[in-house]
Amino acid sequence: MLTILAAAIQAASPAQCSVELVVLGVSQDGGTPQVNVQDDLAWEDARLRRRVVSLGLIDHEAGTRYMFEATPDFREQLHDLNEMAGTEGAPDGVFLTHAHIGHYTGLMFLGFESMSASEVPVHTLPLMAEFLSTNGPWDQLVRYENIDLQVMAPGAPVELTPHLAVSAWDVPHRREYAETAGFRIEGLELSVVFIPDIDSWEEWAEQGIHIEDVVMENDVIYVDATFFDDNELPGRDMSAIPHPRVTETMDLFQDYPDEIRQRIRFIHYNHTNPIRFEDSAETLEVLERGYRIAREGETICL
Ligand SMILES: [Zn+2]
Ligand SMILES: [Zn+2]
Repeated sequence: MLTILAAAIQAASPAQCSVELVVLGVSQDGGTPQVNVQDDLAWEDARLRRRVVSLGLIDHEAGTRYMFEATPDFREQLHDLNEMAGTEGAPDGVFLTHAHIGHYTGLMFLGFESMSASEVPVHTLPLMAEFLSTNGPWDQLVRYENIDLQVMAPGAPVELTPHLAVSAWDVPHRREYAETAGFRIEGLELSVVFIPDIDSWEEWAEQGIHIEDVVMENDVIYVDATFFDDNELPGRDMSAIPHPRVTETMDLFQDYPDEIRQRIRFIHYNHTNPIRFEDSAETLEVLERGYRIAREGETICL
């Protein structure tokens, strides 16, 4: 599996790869730099900016492309996806995990005041679909048929093309407006898991799904890396703040073989998380321990 995966990643280019995944954003909902953090270095240095978490999927053979999440950075992310795919217009489908601001508010760009798209399939779990169709301004997208809500049932794959299917889990994460999905993307050769937000691995295990099994059964796993450890928000008691810490997830897989650990790629990092910097001590620690950090523009041939 190691050689297949390594070769697939190296070979990922439109010419050789019929189904391709691209990382379009890696940041927690608020983006990096975050509003009102005046001294963030990224205000001055554009190379340090990080877009909000999103993945793109391209089936070059079918000529279709899909987005995971509609973020506040949707404009740039759709532009980049279309550039890579050699296409124009709205995506052929959007998958949304949940109703927190970084994950769905980019839908507004599909609406009347912006690109006025037509019937873009938006795939969500049931409560999320209900939320969008019964609350403004999102219900206008439904009424004007800018979007076409497609309700997913957990575990039932949506076949996008002959090469590509997506299924959803309902994962534990605070649900003020809707449930939260995690996604599994199945390509020709590889499967990729996307869990940008989850409260804890233990709570998911209580629902019967163990992250250890998910990692063993899939090839690449993008996981919630909101916080690096409990020292990250000075002056705040972090014990009440959910999300598995990066250190905790690393400890969980410490005794697994290299080939398993390197499947894990940390994503959705908060502006306070030092893994946002490519040369921080924490980034080096993650890499030395055999894990990976998702970076914008990285591609995987599926
Ligand atoms: Zn989030
Ligand atoms: Zn969230």
